[in-house]
Amino acid sequence: MSRFVDLLLGMLGAEPKKPTHVSENVKQIMVRKYANKDNYIKEKLHIRAHQNPSHKWRNRRWSVLIAVNMLFVVSFWLDIQILEGALTASRFVGFHMVDLNSALHVMLAHKHVIVNLFIGTFTVFLLWVLMGGRSFCSWVCPYHLVSELTEKLHLKLVQKKLVTDHQFHRGTRTVFWLLFALMSFATGYTIFETLSPTGILSRALIYGPGLALGWVFLLLLFEVFWSRRAWCRYVCPIGLTYGAVGLITPLQITYRVEQCFHEGDCRKVCLVPHVLDVTIKGRATEESVGLGPDCTRCGLCVDVCPTGALLYEVKGLSKLL
Ligand code: SF4
Ligand code: SF4
Repeated sequence: MSRFVDLLLGMLGAEPKKPTHVSENVKQIMVRKYANKDNYIKEKLHIRAHQNPSHKWRNRRWSVLIAVNMLFVVSFWLDIQILEGALTASRFVGFHMVDLNSALHVMLAHKHVIVNLFIGTFTVFLLWVLMGGRSFCSWVCPYHLVSELTEKLHLKLVQKKLVTDHQFHRGTRTVFWLLFALMSFATGYTIFETLSPTGILSRALIYGPGLALGWVFLLLLFEVFWSRRAWCRYVCPIGLTYGAVGLITPLQITYRVEQCFHEGDCRKVCLVPHVLDVTIKGRATEESVGLGPDCTRCGLCVDVCPTGALLYEVKGLSKLL
């Protein structure tokens, strides 16, 4: 129960705590690892070259993200009715699907539970419980893909010392979540929908570009020149809503302390590096730990880890590599 509360608070913005108790197994692993580090690495671990990280999960994820968004486009233009609508609200082979965050805002705006909306929301809720909560972000959201690409430019500029990355408190996103929900309730309009780059990009892909794309462009400029991945890290309520679903999903990224040498490559590539706090030397309390609900299951850390310490896993079932 206390781990559940810690994970929830961490997602809402609390800083990860240093552990007060570490299991005996972990203590023994740490002694063994550092007694003869080089030999241990050579003999016991499957090493991947640091200089040449794999892009296996990134490529799979980009393919799925593009395929899902293209299915909307093709369904609309060829009128084949497989996946109708847009990411906010759709129908997949007859099943109603409503984005959890949009459904909440619509119901708050109308101030009552709309039964049809509730059914579509429940389908989506079940889907993302099975598929990993915030995996919606990295495997489906079109803004994730464009901001992941422009992030490379931001990192280049930071490396050349042409820009500085400005960080904000992660709790800002919780404040925005409440603010957007309150605005829907108070005004009767789903104001977030007009600002959400997820919905704007999804509709632009399907129905053609509009003026709203200018807003997405401004967000990307802000992220490139001021603050890395600022929208997803500090503002987007969709990420927080699907993160809450991630609290009960069985699909997670698992960290194994025995395989890890704490060099921190994973934290450098991660959108939400606080979930990888457990990879810092002395932070893991158990041999194997599932990462927190804010993890988008993007797989970048799995690809980049040189010693295979991170992997996809369905809780209670075998690892997914
Ligand atoms: S946080 Fe929002 S914009 Fe970012 S990937 Fe998730 S849904 Fe998309
Ligand atoms: S912990 Fe790994 S899988 Fe999760 S968001 Fe960070 S890089 Fe992606």
